[in-house]
Amino acid sequence: MRINALPSGNGFSFTISHAPEKSLARAGTISTPHGDVATPAFIPVGTKATVKAVLPETMKELGAQALLSNAYHLYLQPGPDVLDEAGGLARFMNWPGPTFTDSGGFQVLSLGVGFKKVLAMDAQTFRSDEVVAGNKERLAHVDDEGVTFKSHIDGSMHRFTPEVSMQVQHKIGADIIFAFDECTTLHNTRRYQEKALERTRAWGIRCLDEHQKLTLERSQKPYQALYGVIQGAQYEDLRKKAATDMAALRSSDPDNPIAFDGFGLGGALDKKTLGTILTWMNEILPAEKPRHLLGIGAPEDLFVGVENGIDTFDCVLASRIARTSAVYTMEGRFNLSNAANRRAFEPIDAECDCYTCTHYTKAYLHHVFRGKEIIAATLATIHNERFIVRLVDQMRAALIAGDYFDFKAEFMGRYKHLSGQARD
Ligand SMILES: [Zn+2]
Repeated sequence: MRINALPSGNGFSFTISHAPEKSLARAGTISTPHGDVATPAFIPVGTKATVKAVLPETMKELGAQALLSNAYHLYLQPGPDVLDEAGGLARFMNWPGPTFTDSGGFQVLSLGVGFKKVLAMDAQTFRSDEVVAGNKERLAHVDDEGVTFKSHIDGSMHRFTPEVSMQVQHKIGADIIFAFDECTTLHNTRRYQEKALERTRAWGIRCLDEHQKLTLERSQKPYQALYGVIQGAQYEDLRKKAATDMAALRSSDPDNPIAFDGFGLGGALDKKTLGTILTWMNEILPAEKPRHLLGIGAPEDLFVGVENGIDTFDCVLASRIARTSAVYTMEGRFNLSNAANRRAFEPIDAECDCYTCTHYTKAYLHHVFRGKEIIAATLATIHNERFIVRLVDQMRAALIAGDYFDFKAEFMGRYKHLSGQARD
């Protein structure tokens, strides 16, 4: 019996080039049929096959190596068949590189139901195992087979199962796709977390089976790597169990049991314990497979991720806050629409090499934000995405140079941090 017998030469691989001792951090390269990603890397989010307000060409120029879209949103609109006919996500959106899609597990629950706030790190007010919206109407029902949910666009009813998620993600055609999971919140009861974890494990096998079947059926298409998702909330035993279980999971084909190509670390994560929780999982997960931290992207959290063994990150925070005039600098975050910037004829961050900082002043950005001009979102998003992409690139360079912790100390000594976890 062969274990993890993925077709060799399928175009997907992960190699680690540097792994400093006394830390789980590593630098390496993920190779996909659409190109390579030097890791650790920040993967900007284009939820609906677009990074809002910014051209894909510009995303490439500012250093993005890959983009992450969402299966739930693309399933509702334009529909997976359209992406399949278009030649897959990358070609459809004119992105000349690797792509990821999130499975939709998080979104069918959070957007179908409105518990998004509970997943945010600062949420404190919600405690229930019932999946309900603010208006108490149940919009998503989870059972052992899958999730039935109401579209956030038009209220129509839909059902996602592990098989549907795989079918949708195969048609969308991203290089890296995620298994369908049940994402819980920090406020679910322990008993419910256990139940959800077992459900996610069972769904993992069904995802592997469907993925294996679709990979064979669609063998003329570029290979798609499937990542299993590790949940377990804030519980050490559950996180460790999930990591152990998902690492050992195989498809049910007795002749060719396939394993996950990598892992997504998901769920609500408390900022204070993020590093500890990542360590629980990453000490167990096989070192030779890539690990993606779902939905985390604030600068201080990226450091915690990198030094605890994360290879790739995605987060909508950089672009979402940009559209509200909030921008990152080496000194921390500030709002361009603040009156103090009205006559600030200098770049957002003098040390930033982005197109916005090399061509525009804070005074101009202040003006276009106050005037609600569309260009404001474009310019601020370019800066924020460049800031985060570059920061993780700098971490990678420091890992390779052997001075990661010096780089971190220097950055954190200046940077005033705020919270940030966000998935679309
Ligand atoms: Zn900039």
